[in-house]
Amino acid sequence: MEKLTEITFLGCGTSTGVPVISCECSICTSENPKNKRTRSSLYIQTESTSLLIDAGPDLREQALREKITRADAVLFTHGHADHTAGFDDVRAFCWRREERLPIYGSRDTLNILESMFPWAFDKQYPGLGYVKADAQEIKKEFKIGDITVIPFEVEHASIQTHGFILQLPSGKSLAYACDMKALPKESNSLLSRCDIHIFDGLRFQEHPSHMTVQEACNLADSLASPETYLTHLSHDIDYAMECELPKNRHYAYDGLTLTL
Ligand SMILES: [Zn+2]
Ligand SMILES: [Zn+2]
Ligand SMILES: [Zn+2]
Repeated sequence: MEKLTEITFLGCGTSTGVPVISCECSICTSENPKNKRTRSSLYIQTESTSLLIDAGPDLREQALREKITRADAVLFTHGHADHTAGFDDVRAFCWRREERLPIYGSRDTLNILESMFPWAFDKQYPGLGYVKADAQEIKKEFKIGDITVIPFEVEHASIQTHGFILQLPSGKSLAYACDMKALPKESNSLLSRCDIHIFDGLRFQEHPSHMTVQEACNLADSLASPETYLTHLSHDIDYAMECELPKNRHYAYDGLTLTL
């Protein structure tokens, strides 16, 4: 039998992280470690393959905390700074390999990364110890080791943004969309077959480019999601109030690991 996959929330926070600099609200000053949120990122480890989704400004701290030593590829949801600003730390995953590290993103996302970190994409650059990227534009489904990745487009601000369905060796699948205002109808049938959904659930109050807790729960219900975790959480969310969410709906927290 195939070994199970471990899926770890490296971070589940919105772009500011929680606590927010200079904020003295009850969540930012909370003693509950589950109310401390680094920027959103996910790490997936099967028996033979490891995958990182997004590389935000907290990547270094997250990798040290979770003792991550490798990634066979990095997938980017989109080019916003809270998902890309830690790209330079991806260098650590280039040191133990001969080939360049596959970096997956939309054309827009790759353009942003290439303008921020040109040396990483320059095959002439000697790059001693720096990121050596192999840019892979996301167009359709692809495979990394024993994981099949099915990208889907989501609505989020004015920037092209992807969610990912991961088909795992166990036969189970997971859908991840950390920055999303709405899921285009075309993607509904793809996502309705997943075992776990991880959706943007920023806060309670309406937001122009993120789903509220209620919107995320409604979407999960419309897909008949067996289990849903909300991520990209702001300082409006108190983890202690998770009990108020509907059955099988959860708030993520940093370090939470799911086995699938
Ligand atoms: Zn974000
Ligand atoms: Zn606060
Ligand atoms: Zn974003």
